[in-house]
Amino acid sequence: MEMVTPFKEIIDAIKAAGGDGFKRCYQCGLCDTVCPWNKVTQFSMRKLVREATFGLTEIESEDIWRCTTCGKCPQVCPRDVKQIESGVALRRIATEYDVFPHSVQPIRAVAANLRAEGNPFGEERAKRAKWAEGLSVPIFAEGMEYLYSPCCYLSYDPRARKIARATVEILNKAGVEFGILGPEESCCGESIRKTGDEALFKSLARQNIRALVERGVKKIVVSSPHCYHTYTREYPEFMVHFEVVHISQLLFRLINEGRLKLGTEYAKKVTYHDPCYLGRHNGVYDEPREALKKIDGLDLCEMPESRENSFCCGGGGGRIWMETPKGERFSDLRLAQAVNAGAEVLATACPYCITNFEDSRINRPDGGASIEIKDITEIIRDAL
Ligand code: SF4
Repeated sequence: MEMVTPFKEIIDAIKAAGGDGFKRCYQCGLCDTVCPWNKVTQFSMRKLVREATFGLTEIESEDIWRCTTCGKCPQVCPRDVKQIESGVALRRIATEYDVFPHSVQPIRAVAANLRAEGNPFGEERAKRAKWAEGLSVPIFAEGMEYLYSPCCYLSYDPRARKIARATVEILNKAGVEFGILGPEESCCGESIRKTGDEALFKSLARQNIRALVERGVKKIVVSSPHCYHTYTREYPEFMVHFEVVHISQLLFRLINEGRLKLGTEYAKKVTYHDPCYLGRHNGVYDEPREALKKIDGLDLCEMPESRENSFCCGGGGGRIWMETPKGERFSDLRLAQAVNAGAEVLATACPYCITNFEDSRINRPDGGASIEIKDITEIIRDAL
């Protein structure tokens, strides 16, 4: 394939994404010291920034697709370089030129599925509410308190569906009045936007916003931190504002208000993994932990890298859909951290984290017998 290096477009796109953020870089390399890639292989954000500043980045490079948008390097960068925004701008150029390296190829199918069925799996839109079979979950009607938006993984993925069902059990027990959109719900679009497909993101966002407004939705409870991020930080770009709560926040509130009674002992040692899009990107660290601490018998321990320093599972930035070779999967290292902390259960609050950790668990030498992976919703439901 002929090499494509559109210098001017790269420079212009980066300017458009973050002003001259990349130009501010003085090559200190602090970003590289915190980047999770450097625990599994070699990748230099500092080098990518330098090359992109001069329009020298080759858009065929795997490197522009590595960033999981975990948010660690912006925390330490002394020059406010917009690494995530500018990195996504580079991906937009690659998307426009239709140039994807081998590991990124699955995105083509994901994008086609999102266009056709509104979900990344290519599952039928009409079956979006199948996860709720037997639970009598109503379609949202004006006047209900919450819309529950389970996201694509909780709607279709067999493992993640259990989390949606646990959520319904809890909300019913607490007497929360809620409904779902069912087939009218589309993917929120957060991850496809991070892969550079801005047009598809906007199309998905408009579909969702139209459905939400037409149904009279004002308050939304979500299970995925990626939906939380999109609804709270990106949909306002379309001049709409919904009151959005992540399920971990709502659970904490329901327990404190006495609407959820935790009457069953859960005598296990549990560690909590902060999903990047709940923690670093949105500052929700305490509610999931405080909710878990309310459970009788549960022994909560911390891994060395937690809260602001949480170690990414590898699923953000659209990487949940890309191929990451064995030996380079962040989730393997994170799971080892949980085991080394003595945890019997690794709890988290994100379907991407659950998916990656379950993969890592079954690939452990003991076949995953030494640790369980749970969404905090599942633990709370077991403790009711
Ligand atoms: Fe450049 Fe910021 Fe990285 Fe330092 S931390 S090399 S200023 S991007």
